Amino acid sequence: MGNYSIAVLAGDGIGPEVIEQAVRVLQNIGKRYGHTFNLQYAMVGVAAIEAEGNAISDATMQLCQRSDAILFGAVGGIPRFEGPNSKIQPERALFRLRKELALYANLRPIHPLKALLNASTIKPEALQGTDLLVVRELTGGLYFGKPSEIRETSQGLEAVDTLLYSEKEIERIVRTAFELARGRRKKVTSVDKANVLSTSRLWRRTADRIAQDYPDVSLEHLLVDTCAMQLIRQPSSFDVIVTENMFGDILTDEASMLAGSMGMLPSASLGTRETAHGLFGLYEPIHGSAPDIAGQNKANPIAAILSAAMMLRHSFNLKQEAQTIETAVEMVIEAGYRSVDLYEPGKETVHTKEMGRLIAEAITV
Ligand code: NAD
Repeated sequence: MGNYSIAVLAGDGIGPEVIEQAVRVLQNIGKRYGHTFNLQYAMVGVAAIEAEGNAISDATMQLCQRSDAILFGAVGGIPRFEGPNSKIQPERALFRLRKELALYANLRPIHPLKALLNASTIKPEALQGTDLLVVRELTGGLYFGKPSEIRETSQGLEAVDTLLYSEKEIERIVRTAFELARGRRKKVTSVDKANVLSTSRLWRRTADRIAQDYPDVSLEHLLVDTCAMQLIRQPSSFDVIVTENMFGDILTDEASMLAGSMGMLPSASLGTRETAHGLFGLYEPIHGSAPDIAGQNKANPIAAILSAAMMLRHSFNLKQEAQTIETAVEMVIEAGYRSVDLYEPGKETVHTKEMGRLIAEAITV
């Protein structure tokens, strides 16, 4: 029986709707296994900009530092805060959390449920056997490189972004991928654009060097464009994919369609900081704030609920409890319930709160 402190940053749009259901599920895990989850709520994103003048305040950063883990919803989606000319962008909250808490490894597992093979736009036979993990570098590359600006020149406007990776940054994320592959099917696919980019050539060289420390794990290199194609053609050929920040961002949105919807995909962002219970981490669904469906009780809460399961596994070492959540999700889907995004004729469509209730109840069985 443990006592765990969790900073809950629900954010904007559907963020609070899906986090409410993840919390409901956690509370039932607490009841069943006798754990106490101390939840401390704070604002991020648009809500924080309006109330506190910043996408994430220093006080909220300190709360996160003191916690054992962070459960995060989504930020953004309000047009007046969007775009490069907006002074404070809601997404800055996430970038600050990732950078200042050194959460450099983003884990995104993609394991389509059997009962949902028909929900994907990809043919079910192509999806058979798919069980992959994308390990995305999260604190470097184009999203953090400086300069990054639009500037005036005598010829008119120009813009620049900077893609920079140090060997150390590449080494630690590639090692993470190899370590994780050891607990899986022992295959790492390193994805780059080494035929064009210098950063990718250093990435490839570093991956080859690290691979020598893991003779039991096989390494293949794939260009990012080929990987995008292969993810749709034969997704079961992958075990662990490791790649840089922007490639990982794009490839995982594509890969989410293997699982039927973005609303199904959880993620964990980890660094090296240890707490009394395990590795400190931030857990969030891969989707955004979905302004088109926000406030309508239509969002699929499963990605947020599975993110809570990842938190139990990676930050609290509660493997059985994590598995209980994953099994509950599977049971509810197999019983024929579908969220709006997974609509299937002949199945019962349920809204956010109802899906959360069904999964939470399946835990107490
Ligand atoms: P999005 O992920 O919010 O939505 C894309 C599409 O998927 C929409 O049609 C949406 O309705 C649907 N969708 C997403 N999550 C769903 C769920 N749980 N259930 C059902 N349907 C779901 O991406 P977007 O529309 O490009 O971005 C909206 C805002 O979110 C933008 O401001 C963007 O910057 C922000 N964003 C935030 C994060 C984050 O907080 N981590 C990530 C991505 C995008």
